[in-house]
Amino acid sequence: MSIERVTILGSTGSIGVQTLDIIRRNPERFQVSSLVAHSRWEELARQAREFNAESVVIGDKSLYPQLKEALADTPTKVLAGEEDINFVAESYRSDTVVNALVGYAGLHPTALAIESGKRIALANKETLVVGGDIIMAAARRKGVEIMPIDSEHSAIMQCLEGERREAIRNLIITCSGGALRHLSIEELEGVTPEMALKHPQWSMGAKITIDSATLVNKGFEVIEARWLFDIEAERIKVVIHPQSIVHSMVEFTDGSVKAQLGNADMHTPISYALLYPERATRAVEHFSILDYPTLSFAEVDRVKYPALDIAYECLRRGGTAACTMNGANEVAVAAFLNHKCRYHDIVGAIRYALDNASFEAHPTLDDYDAANRESRELARRYIKM
Ligand code: NAD
Ligand code: MG
Repeated sequence: MSIERVTILGSTGSIGVQTLDIIRRNPERFQVSSLVAHSRWEELARQAREFNAESVVIGDKSLYPQLKEALADTPTKVLAGEEDINFVAESYRSDTVVNALVGYAGLHPTALAIESGKRIALANKETLVVGGDIIMAAARRKGVEIMPIDSEHSAIMQCLEGERREAIRNLIITCSGGALRHLSIEELEGVTPEMALKHPQWSMGAKITIDSATLVNKGFEVIEARWLFDIEAERIKVVIHPQSIVHSMVEFTDGSVKAQLGNADMHTPISYALLYPERATRAVEHFSILDYPTLSFAEVDRVKYPALDIAYECLRRGGTAACTMNGANEVAVAAFLNHKCRYHDIVGAIRYALDNASFEAHPTLDDYDAANRESRELARRYIKM
């Protein structure tokens, strides 16, 4: 088997570090091509040494001198800034690009990697939320495989293995309810970022943890599923499942429901994406169903979590709507994390942006850039930043 060259965009983050764990355990199979991070240059330099990376890119250009100095005695090429991130995403020196960047920043690198025919392991769900339509069309045109690194979509993909499209009735995405699931709407008013960051099951980056608390993340996952599996929104259901053991399900026309279960550990979906169609031999700890004698499921409270219906609304509107939702959410979540706005302002900013943004029904990548800028501006106006 030939060795596969892997580029990791966002290698110092939660998904990036776990991806490197998988690569570390499979040295005969993978070799690191490029590693990309935003600001943690010391960690990036350490990773570059350990994995003998061909090149590294630091997103924040002001940190280039430090990184260059730290890797001066190695053959690793040191690059910086957005253009260089795009360059390594597109470069011929890799077979697979793992996109574990956060937010809109992931869109262009994914698009470039697809155009150059690379296999994509996609954690950056914002890529599909914003531009799922054109990204999936480009992947089909180029014959490129997009493997999801999101536990729900990995679960659905596993349930669909060997099944015919016509046999699918519904996709059922499970949702833990996030860190604030026990609070009432009134109690949510006073929530601090520290409270929202305490996810009961998953340890993840800050932005997605807040998105999990507001259920924006679940709304995004519905949009992601719509494009990944090419299925209409009405057939994508969401159920609350507080234990996060059933990672999602597929209901078939004969009444069968298949589910994928396992520990809440992203090593499983990451290794599935990287090793498919093989399976890792020691990705995570043994899972025992006896540890979970009670698995429960419930309806989502749509009043307490308006973000979920907003995501469905964006799918109905199509065009740039979901891009607008995403941009406003990014600004509002960053503001919330910096104590610059309240919890309810996150959905408030999304609503304000969607009600005031211009709309493009058949956007190009440039139109997405414009819609992203506009929605961020609207969210800043709403939050009064
Ligand atoms: P994180 O914040 O832990 O890590 C993000 C990584 O991307 C870091 O290495 C950071 O340096 C880099 N980065 C961010 N913005 C950048 C930019 N503009 N330029 C260059 N580098 C940049 O985030 P995470 O939790 O690993 O999430 C990554 C993506 O995966 C997100 O889209 C998230 O929604 C998705 N995801 C994460 C999990 C999880 O368990 N963490 C699960 C499912 C999906
Ligand atoms: Mg998920």
